[in-house]
Amino acid sequence: MMKKSAKTSEQRPICEHTIQRMEDANVMFKGQIPTAGGVELVWLSVHEMPRYLEHRAEFAAEYYGVTLQQYREWLETDGTPRCSATTKAGKPCKNPAGDCVGVGIHEWVAFDGEFCWRHALDEWKP
Ligand SMILES: [Zn+2]
Repeated sequence: MMKKSAKTSEQRPICEHTIQRMEDANVMFKGQIPTAGGVELVWLSVHEMPRYLEHRAEFAAEYYGVTLQQYREWLETDGTPRCSATTKAGKPCKNPAGDCVGVGIHEWVAFDGEFCWRHALDEWKP
C-alpha cells in the first residue's frame, strides 16, 4: 500500500489563496540588495518578490530612485564618483570627484562627473 503523498510542504508551490492571505495579513519578507561596499536589507511585500527574485538590479535601482545604469556604475566604482577632467597626458583623471570615496548612491549620483579637488581648483584659476 502506498502512502497518500510523499511530497513535503517544501516541494509544493504556494497557491494563490495562500499568497492572497499573506498579502491580507501584511506578511513581509526581508531581502538583500548589493551596495557599494556591502548589502542593504530591504523589506519586501509579497507582490515585490517576483521582481526582487528575477530582476534584482532593476529592483535595487527603483528602490533607490536612480537609473539602472547609475546603480550599476555606483557598484562598479565602489561608491567613488569619477572626475570628468582629463590629465595633461590626455587620460581620464582617476581622482574621486568631490573628494568622495565609498559614498552612498545619492551622494555618488550628485558628484559623479564633477571634478576632483585638483581639477576644481583649475576651474577657478583666472
Ligand atoms: Zn580630476
